[in-house]
Amino acid sequence: MSENSSKKTQLSKVRNVGFIAHIDAGKTSVTERVLYTTGITYKVGTVDQGTAVMDWMAQEQERGITITAAATSTEWNDHDINIIDTPGHVDFTAEVERSLRVLDGGIVVLDAVAGVQSQSETVWRQADRYGVPRISFVNKMDRTGADFIASANSIKTRLGGQPVPVQIPVGSEADFVGVVNLVTGEASIYEKQEQGPPQLVKQDISVQTESVQNTFKEQRDLLLNAVADNDDQFLELYLGDTEPTIDDIQTALRRATLKNLVTPIFCGSAKNGIAVEPLLDGIITYLPSPEDVPPVTGTDPTDASSIVRHAHDEPFTALAYKVVTDPFAGRLVYLRVYSGEAKSGAMVYNATRKKMERLGRVLRMHANRREELEVIVSGDIPAAVGLKETFTGDTLCDRDTAIVLESIDFPDPVISIAVEPKSRPDQEKLAQALIKLGEEDPTFQIRHDKDSGQTIIAGMGELHLEILLDRMRREFGVEAATGQPKVSYREAVNQQAKGDGKFIRQSGGRGQYGHAVLTIEPLDRDSGIQFENKITGGSIPREYIKPVENGAKEALGSGILGGYSVVDVKITLTDGSFHAVDSSEMAFHIAGSMAVKDALRRAGCSLLEPVMAVEITTPDQFLGDVLDDLSRRRGLIGEVRLDRIGQIVQSKIPLAEMFGYATDIRSLTQGRAGHSVQFSHYDHVPANHVAKALAEV
Ligand code: GDP
Repeated sequence: MSENSSKKTQLSKVRNVGFIAHIDAGKTSVTERVLYTTGITYKVGTVDQGTAVMDWMAQEQERGITITAAATSTEWNDHDINIIDTPGHVDFTAEVERSLRVLDGGIVVLDAVAGVQSQSETVWRQADRYGVPRISFVNKMDRTGADFIASANSIKTRLGGQPVPVQIPVGSEADFVGVVNLVTGEASIYEKQEQGPPQLVKQDISVQTESVQNTFKEQRDLLLNAVADNDDQFLELYLGDTEPTIDDIQTALRRATLKNLVTPIFCGSAKNGIAVEPLLDGIITYLPSPEDVPPVTGTDPTDASSIVRHAHDEPFTALAYKVVTDPFAGRLVYLRVYSGEAKSGAMVYNATRKKMERLGRVLRMHANRREELEVIVSGDIPAAVGLKETFTGDTLCDRDTAIVLESIDFPDPVISIAVEPKSRPDQEKLAQALIKLGEEDPTFQIRHDKDSGQTIIAGMGELHLEILLDRMRREFGVEAATGQPKVSYREAVNQQAKGDGKFIRQSGGRGQYGHAVLTIEPLDRDSGIQFENKITGGSIPREYIKPVENGAKEALGSGILGGYSVVDVKITLTDGSFHAVDSSEMAFHIAGSMAVKDALRRAGCSLLEPVMAVEITTPDQFLGDVLDDLSRRRGLIGEVRLDRIGQIVQSKIPLAEMFGYATDIRSLTQGRAGHSVQFSHYDHVPANHVAKALAEV
């Protein structure tokens, strides 16, 4: 008990953070170094050797990218730091979204040569949406062409942020040896060792070279001005007679960072183990603790009134943000505890599903070991074993103080592929594997195609599906044949139309009678499906309205063009009739469905296709070829601009034209271009491509 009660008062000493970055900026390497430096791992894993501790899934090691958002806990300077892993690949946007939802602060890792890149931009915008305070770490300062200030400035030019360097580098490129803290004047210099990582030596600014001292003075003034510009309290002090203390500056800069007004910028080299300690200090100094972020809000499941839960002195509230099938522990549910506490083994209430569940064992996950906890408390990011009916986005709480937190939004999949087991024994295993994978990843969907008898899996991009199939093979030992990946088209209603559906069966005994008349009309994109009941005078008895609605919505699941779901429609139920004896819920369900099908035929439908936002970075000499290729793919070319790292092309390309793009662009540019793909929106398929698209069905 004492440990936990002391922990409660120590909420200010918890940091729940995530490293966010463009792929290859060095997020994994930085995380590794942080774990090493904080003493959790004894041998630094390196991404290149495929031994990184965080990348515990086999194919992540092969591909060198981090996919799952596992949480790892460590300690620094008497503080608990929980690191929520976020993927660097935008095909896994859902992973980024859910991480951002549960973390309190972010560390944006940039490549010192490239500065802000396309994916850092995507993640930055997401972080803005969730109001996550950030600092930034300019990594790879050892690289030729590394430029700290230019990288910091790219946060301003590309993201509209307010970068505030809080360090300056000492030495450059291969001779980069450390950093000077602009607030304290303390230099952290890393001396090379015969063996092992370099040794940190703390020095005073006064022993640095004249050039470093000059840069220090210059940048320190800029820092103080920036703090004064963004914190009135500090401004007053700054304009007064007394010299602001280190504490004054740090407190003010922390305030401005927590308000998302500024981004303190750090630098270092994860690869060479340089300047990780100052970064850790920075995480503690400038990023929020759970009590610094706004309290969570949710609704009371009994009367839908809104509830606010603060981190202190409130009943138990936790959000399940990730479900993982662990080879050793089985089903692990990662939680973020927002208030109160719960003991291991306790019964908790899943307010989302209205079910009591046993919490079972609760674990704190370290990079290479699991710590059993007796109790989980506000601010924790534990993993629970034994929850069977809790899924991503569910709220756990006490029954008599129940709350439902806002669930996590996931986009619908845009691409699908048919999978077929290679043998009979594989059939059962395939089903099991898909269910488990689907549980872990809400953007991965599974359905059974009645017509072809095939199992169809759908996801957010080619790579996403590839990785899932790979996991199926490795983790579940399932051999499956796959078809060609297919675009998930949708159908839109062309105009308003009326539909009439009458279902009558007369067969001996009791018959069936249901009859519905309705209109459908197109809505703006992303409005979803709306249903309105305008029946007056009881032409359909009240108990049959819901069955009509369900039948009508079900019919929209399979459009008249290619059987794709029909989106953005309003259904208005206007009339109908019933039979005193023969009417039933089932009959009205079918009537609703028939009426919508009738209306769809009259309204006419058009095909919508997913369009991807693609950003390509290419050396100048290949620009012409890249643009020609984009035009061949029905690509809409947006901004093209010259950056320090080459030409950057923004474009919108229909997903149907994107298959194999990674290979094609590699051969087109001798492997020197980079690109990122992200779902943008659904758009009408041009008339001359509709036939081709429908031929795929
Ligand atoms: P992630 O994709 O953001 O997780 O990046 P990784 O940590 O996998 O690193 C991508 C590549 O950059 C790897 O080849 C790393 O060795 C390399 N890298 C990481 N940090 C540094 C660094 O500080 N300096 C240099 N030169 N290379 C680095």
